[in-house]
Amino acid sequence: MQRISHWVNNKVVVGTSGRTGKVFNPATGEQQAEVDLASVAEVDAVIAKSKAAFPEWRATGMSRRAEIMFRTRELLDANRKELATYLTLEHGKVPSDALGEIARGIENIEFACGIPALMKGGYSEQASGGVDVYSIRQPLGVVAGITPFNFPAMVPMWMFANAIMCGNTFILKPSEKDPSASMFIADLLRQAGLPDGVFNVLHGDKEAVDRLLVHPDIQSVSFVGSTPIAKYVYETGTKNGKRVQALGGAKNHMLVLPDADLDMAADAAVSAAYGSAGERCMAISVVLAVDSIADALIEKLKTRVPNIKVGPGTDPSAEMGPLISREHRDKVASYINNAAGEGATVVINGTDKAKDAGFFLNPSLIDNVKPGMKCYDEEIFGPVLTVMRVKSYAEGLKTINDNEFGNGTAIFTRDGGVARQFQYDVQVGMVGINVPIPVPVSYYSFGGWKASLFGDQHMYGPEGINFFTRGKVVTSRWPDPRTSAVDLGFPTNR
Ligand code: NAD
Repeated sequence: MQRISHWVNNKVVVGTSGRTGKVFNPATGEQQAEVDLASVAEVDAVIAKSKAAFPEWRATGMSRRAEIMFRTRELLDANRKELATYLTLEHGKVPSDALGEIARGIENIEFACGIPALMKGGYSEQASGGVDVYSIRQPLGVVAGITPFNFPAMVPMWMFANAIMCGNTFILKPSEKDPSASMFIADLLRQAGLPDGVFNVLHGDKEAVDRLLVHPDIQSVSFVGSTPIAKYVYETGTKNGKRVQALGGAKNHMLVLPDADLDMAADAAVSAAYGSAGERCMAISVVLAVDSIADALIEKLKTRVPNIKVGPGTDPSAEMGPLISREHRDKVASYINNAAGEGATVVINGTDKAKDAGFFLNPSLIDNVKPGMKCYDEEIFGPVLTVMRVKSYAEGLKTINDNEFGNGTAIFTRDGGVARQFQYDVQVGMVGINVPIPVPVSYYSFGGWKASLFGDQHMYGPEGINFFTRGKVVTSRWPDPRTSAVDLGFPTNR
C-alpha cells in the first residue's frame, strides 16, 4: 500500500504517530494509499522548523522571493497534467474540472509574483516640521492553512502564494482525503528554489488541527471547509490570540427572472450545479424560478440533465465524476430519497447510479422545494439541483437573504436596473450577473457573508495581503539640533 507522509524542510518525512488515514480512489471505491496523521509532537516539531526558517526568509529580498514564485508558476504550468492526475485519482475530478482548478490556482501564484508592488506602504513627507510619516507591512511569522477535500490544489494556492510572498513561513494541513496534490506542489516549490522550512505539509485530522489552533507560535490560521468546523476553528483560534479567516459552507441560489434568456439560464444552471459533481462551495444548488417561466425552465433543465456523461476521470469523455466517499455519496442520496416525503417533486432521481462500484451518483433534479425541507435547509454538496418557485423578484431576493449562508449567488435577467438593485440588496459576498459561478479573479478577494465566512478578511487578492501582514506606522525625524527642545505637552503638528 502506498504511504503518503509529511513534507518538512523540503523533504518527505515519514510519520511516527502510528496513526494513518485511508485514501480512496472514488472511481473504483478501493483504498489506494494510507496517509500519515500527525501527532501533537509532530505538529510541534514542524512548527519549530517553520519558526527557525522565518528570520532568514523574512530577510530575503522581495525580488528574490518573487523570482522563486515566477519559477513556481513556470513549473506548475509545465506540470498541469501530472498534477491533474492526482486530482482525478484521489478526488475523482474529470480532466476538464481538474485542469480548471489548477488554472484558477495558478492565477493566485501570478498575483503573488507582484509582491514588490503589493507590499508598498504609504509615505507622507513633512507631516510636521522635519517629520516624515510612513507605513510598512511586515509578515506575521509562522502561519497555517487548513484546506478541504474539494479543491486539493487551488485552495492551498489561495493561501500559501500570498502567505510566503509576504515573508511568512507556511504550514499546510490539507484534507486527509486527497493529500497527494499538496505533496506534488511542495516538490515544485523546492525545485523553484524555496528554502527549507518555508513551506511544510503536515497531514492530519482533528488532532493536528487542534494543536495548530492553540500553539503559541502559530500567528494566523486560514481555513476553508464546512461551516461547523469553520466556526470552531474561528472561535478556538481567536480565543488563542490568532488571526483567523475561516470560510464555511454554502447554499447558492440562482434567481431567474421572466426576461432572462432561458436557454442560457438552463445551460448555466446545469453547468454550475453538476460540475465537479456539485462538490463546489460555489455550486448553484437552488434555482429560484419566477412562476411565469418556471415550467418552461424545468423543461429545459429536464432535457439537459440526462445528457451529462457520468464516469471516471480516466475516461476523456466523462463530464462528471464520482463523489469523494461512500458515506458522502449515501448522505447525498438520502436527501434525494427523502425529498418526495417532504412534499417536493423528484423530477430526475440519480440514485440508481449508487449501485455502481465507486462513489457515483447520477445528477438529480428536484422541483417544488421550500424552506423547512432538508434538501433546502442543508448544504447537500452533491449533484442535486433543486428548484424553488417564487412569485416575484422580491420573493426571490427575500428567500436568498433569509438563508443562513451567503457565499455566492447569481441573477439571470436582461434588465440592467433590476440586476443593479439585486447587487445592492443581496446579502451575499460574491454575486454573478448572468454568470453562474462568480469566483472572483485573483486580484479581487474571495469570501462569503453570514455562515459562509467567520472573520473579516476574505481570502487571496488584496485582502490576502492584508491578512498575512501587520501594518506599522513610523514617524521619523532626523536630528537637527536647531529644532531640538524639551516639551512635555502631547505632540502636535507644526
Ligand atoms: P471539512 O470541514 O470536513 O474539512 C475541512 C478541513 O478541516 C480538513 O482539512 C479536515 O481535516 C479538517 N477537519 C475536519 N473535521 C475537523 C474537526 N472536527 N476538527 C478540526 N478539523 C477538522 O470540509 P470538507 O468536507 O473537506 O470540504 C467540504 C466543505 O468545504 C463544504 O461544506 C464546502 O462548502 C466547504 N468549502 C467552502 C469553500 C469556501 O470558500 N467557502 C470552498 C471549498 C469548500
